[in-house]
Amino acid sequence: MIVVMKTAATKEHVDAIIDRVEAIGCKTHIIVGAERTVIGVIGDGRAIDQRQLSRMIGVETIVPISKPYKGASREFKPEDTHIQVGDIVIGGKDLVVMAGPCSIEGRTALLEVAHAVKEAGAHILRGGAYKPRSSPYSFQGLGEEGLRYLAEAREATGMPVITEVMDPALVPLVCEYADILQIGARNMQNYALLNAVGKSGFPVLLKRSFSGTIEEWLMSAEYILSHGNNNVMLCERGIRANETETRNTFDINAIPVIKNLSHLPIIADPSHATGKWEYVGAGAKAAVAAGADGVILEVHPHPEDAWSDGRQSLKPEKFARLVEQMRAVAVAVERDIPSTRVPAGLNGHNVSTLPPAF
Ligand code: PEP
Ligand code: MN
Repeated sequence: MIVVMKTAATKEHVDAIIDRVEAIGCKTHIIVGAERTVIGVIGDGRAIDQRQLSRMIGVETIVPISKPYKGASREFKPEDTHIQVGDIVIGGKDLVVMAGPCSIEGRTALLEVAHAVKEAGAHILRGGAYKPRSSPYSFQGLGEEGLRYLAEAREATGMPVITEVMDPALVPLVCEYADILQIGARNMQNYALLNAVGKSGFPVLLKRSFSGTIEEWLMSAEYILSHGNNNVMLCERGIRANETETRNTFDINAIPVIKNLSHLPIIADPSHATGKWEYVGAGAKAAVAAGADGVILEVHPHPEDAWSDGRQSLKPEKFARLVEQMRAVAVAVERDIPSTRVPAGLNGHNVSTLPPAF
């Protein structure tokens, strides 16, 4: 429920409400507006005596949240959530581009692709060290060795890194190396894992399961939020339908639906949604037009030799062109994709290190 305070309510009145609801095991989320303060209350609503609460000093009205997901709903928090990762804000006007290989294949290979995607316009580097493969005989990822290469690629390029975690016991280890934890489609309803990443406080990208409804997906986000971790972004990566020409069916509807139902950022993954590189660009541009807050794309310099998901991986040159096209679409819908390129004439100097005259 949401407790809307009167414009004249004081901090003491707000604190009294917080104390009352926290005493019965509920959590609060405070939104201080220009006119009035609003207190979001999350937890088992049955424990709260609403009539008693509505009579407390300073309370204007109590609004119940109709959705089963509370903290994830727009009713609970009308303004968009912004997630800060290094210098990057996810969920604001600027879109974020995450790119890199499906799996980390080695130190040199990762550094090569990291520099290539940065040069082509990526803001965040992706790469899997723990891979959820359909077959136990397929490459399972380099594990901690891969995480070390990822951290090295971050140092070398300055890009934050995102990588998947599959095991609750490995969350602390992955947090030592990563900036964003990815929960894969197959683990969307792995509640032990959702609880573990929730407790970590780390930014989380929660992929939609290929059979998950939007409500189930938001309920999974709720698990993470329920630990006080508000840094959750959702990722539409295609769902399973009866079409076999593409790997999955890109549920483009999910993007405006999530924007309507939730305040959490939504990222699109056209690589897994289509499964074929020749359709990835169309999916990416459509996602930007539909209102996505960013995209995550698989890029590999030699897709034919990739250790996983080569069929859907873009070569860096194609990815570079796509970023330009996505930027044009973003501008058309009153957003932008900031360039990572050093302006011509600066001879390779990083702009931020140049004197103010520049
Ligand atoms: C991946 O990002 O490489 C991946 C395995 O994605 P998903 O969980 O969406 O299948
Ligand atoms: Mn992949």
